[in-house]
Amino acid sequence: MIKSEDISKILDAARIEDVVGVFVPLKKRGSNYIGLCPFHDEKTPSFNVNPARGIFKCFGCGEGGDSVAFLMKHQHYTYPEALRWLAERYHIHIEETEATAEEKQAQSEKDRLFHINEFAQKYFQDLLFNDEEGKSIGLSYFEERCLSKDTIRRWGLGYCKDSWDDFCNAARKEGYTDEELVKAGVAIRNENTGSIYDRFRARVTFPIFNIGGRVLGFSARILSSDKSKAKYVNSPESIIYSKSNVLFGLHLAKDKIIKEDLCYLVEGNMDAVMLNQNGVFNVVATSGTALTTQQINLIKRYTRNVTVLYDGDSAGIKATFKAVNLFLEQGLNVRTVLFPDGEDPDSFARKRTSDEFKAFLVEQSQNFIIYKTNFLKQQAADDPVKKAQMLQDIVHTISLVPDLLERSTYLQQCSSILEFDEATLSNALKKQLHQNALNKAKQETAKSDIVVEKSIIDVPIPTQKQIIQGDNNSDYEQEKGVIKLLLAHGERYTRQEVYDESGSLTRQEVLVSLFIVCDIVNDGIKFNDKVFAKIFKLFKESICDREELPYMNDFIANEDTEIKNLTAEILVGDRELSPLWIEKNIPVASLEDDEVFDKYVIETLLRFKLQKINATIRDIKEQLKEIKDPQESSILLYEYKKITDRRNFISKKLNQVCMN
Ligand SMILES: [Zn+2]
Repeated sequence: MIKSEDISKILDAARIEDVVGVFVPLKKRGSNYIGLCPFHDEKTPSFNVNPARGIFKCFGCGEGGDSVAFLMKHQHYTYPEALRWLAERYHIHIEETEATAEEKQAQSEKDRLFHINEFAQKYFQDLLFNDEEGKSIGLSYFEERCLSKDTIRRWGLGYCKDSWDDFCNAARKEGYTDEELVKAGVAIRNENTGSIYDRFRARVTFPIFNIGGRVLGFSARILSSDKSKAKYVNSPESIIYSKSNVLFGLHLAKDKIIKEDLCYLVEGNMDAVMLNQNGVFNVVATSGTALTTQQINLIKRYTRNVTVLYDGDSAGIKATFKAVNLFLEQGLNVRTVLFPDGEDPDSFARKRTSDEFKAFLVEQSQNFIIYKTNFLKQQAADDPVKKAQMLQDIVHTISLVPDLLERSTYLQQCSSILEFDEATLSNALKKQLHQNALNKAKQETAKSDIVVEKSIIDVPIPTQKQIIQGDNNSDYEQEKGVIKLLLAHGERYTRQEVYDESGSLTRQEVLVSLFIVCDIVNDGIKFNDKVFAKIFKLFKESICDREELPYMNDFIANEDTEIKNLTAEILVGDRELSPLWIEKNIPVASLEDDEVFDKYVIETLLRFKLQKINATIRDIKEQLKEIKDPQESSILLYEYKKITDRRNFISKKLNQVCMN
C-alpha cells in the first residue's frame, strides 16, 4: 500500500506531457501538445495533451485521463504500479506496506504475464552473472562476442540452464501457477504427462521489450551445435505479445530515432545489440522474422527515413528486397548499406571502433532503388532472360513509390545506370502502375462481391438540384465554404460522427480543421481554385506532416499576396454563410450555438464532396466512351461503381442533415 500523502506528492509532481512523451512523440501546438494516438491506429494526430489541466484526450477514439490513467491504459499497469513508476521518474521516496493477498489476487491476467516475464528476465540474468553454468556457458558466449557487462545489463540478456525445470521451480516458489507459466510462454506443457518444462533451456536469452520497457517475451539462442534443434526459440504469441507488432530494441532506440530522424533496421538481435554497443543507438531488429506492415507503422511514428542493414549474402539481399518494397509502399525513404562479403553488421561492427563504424555507415549508405539497380545489373550481365527479369523487377519497385515526382526521378536515374531508353522504361512503368491498380481493384472486388457490369453506366447522374432543391452553388462557392470553415473555425471543436477503434461510427468532439482536412485527404479530393488549393495545402502540410494546427498568422501575413488577401476577405469582410443558409435566413450569429454549428460543418463538407464526386462521375463517363481496351474499361467500371455508391451514401447523409 502507498500512503495517501505520498500519492498526492506523486500526482503533484507528474507532468502529463513528460509522462506521455516517454511513449508517444509529441509536438507542441499552442499551449497543448499533439501526437499520434497510441490507442488506435491513425495517420493524422487527434491525440491531445493539455499540460495546464494535466490530462490527455484523443478525439479519434475518445481515450482520455491523467498521467496515472495513461500508464494504466498504455502500460497495463495496476494503479499502484503506475504510482511507483511515477515515483521513480520524479525521485519521490515512497513508503510502502506489504501488498495484501487480495491485492495480489486482483492483478489482472495481463499483469501476471508481465510479472512472470519480468521475473524470468531477472532470473535469467542472475544466472548469467552468478551461477557456475551461467558464467561458463552463457556469459562466456557473450564475452566471445565482445559484449561488455554494461551492454548485457542494458539489454537484459541472460541464460536459462540446461535443465528441464530449473526455471519452472523458481517461478513456482514465487507463487506462479503452471497454467500461468504456460500462458506467459516461458514453459511448455508435455501433453502426455501433463507436466511443464522450461521453454528456453540451455539457451542465452534476449528479452523482448515493449516501447515502455516492459518485458513481453524472449528470443533465445542455442549454444550447442546440435543441428536438430532450432537456432532461435521465441516466446509464442500471448495476450501481451504479438510478434508482428514489436521491434526488438525500439524501447532503447526511439528517442535517438527521433533525434537523428533515421532508423537503422537490422535482422538479428545480436546485430542490434552490437551496433548499440558501438555507439549506433537508433537501431532496431526484426528478430529474423519477415517484416510486417505494423512494424513499419511503428517506425513511421518516429521517422520517415530507414536504412536497412541486412547481411551481404544472397539470402540477406533477397530479404532486403522484400522489406524495402514494403517500406516504399508505405511512403518511407529507404537507404541501404552493403557490407563486405562474409560480414554481417554484428561481425563488422565488432572489428571497428565506434567512430570508424559510424563513418562507414554514412559513407556507404546509398539510395535503395539505385543500389538494387546496380546490383541486378551486375547479376544479369549479358544474359538476355535475366536482363528482362531485372527490368521487370526494377520497374515494379519504382511503381511502389507513392510520389509521382520521386518515381520519375528514379526512372531517370535507373535508365542511365542501365543505359536503357527512358521512354521504354516509362512505358513499362505505366503498364506496371496499371497492373497494380488492376490487382488492387480485383482484391477489393473480391472482398466486396461487386459484380461489375457495363450496364451500370446507363444510370443517369442526378444533378445537384435533384438531390437538394434550391442549391445552385458553383464549385467555387463549395470550395470557398470549406476554406472559410478552416480559416474562421479551424480551432473550434465540433461534435461529429467519427470512426472509433472498433470501426464503428460514434459522435465525438473533434477539432474542425482535423475533421475536415483528414476527411478530404482520405477521399483524395483536390481543389480547383488555385488560391484555395494553396491554403488547403498549408493546412494539410501542417496537420498531416508536422502534426500541428497552422497559425492564423501564417495566412494573414503570408508572403503570397493572393493567400493574404483571400484570408483577410474571408476573416474580415465576408460575413455571409453559404447561399443556402442565407436563403433559409440563418444569421451568422446562430453559429455560436453548438448544435447549429455542428450542422453547418457537416453540411458544408458534404455539399463540397458531393459536388466533387459528381464531377468525377461525369469524367469517368466521358472516359468510358473513349476506351476500347476491355481490361482498362473494367478498372474504370469498378471505379465508377465505387464512386456512385459513395455518391449515393453522401447524398443520403446530406438529405438527413438538411431535414433535421
Ligand atoms: Zn485514439
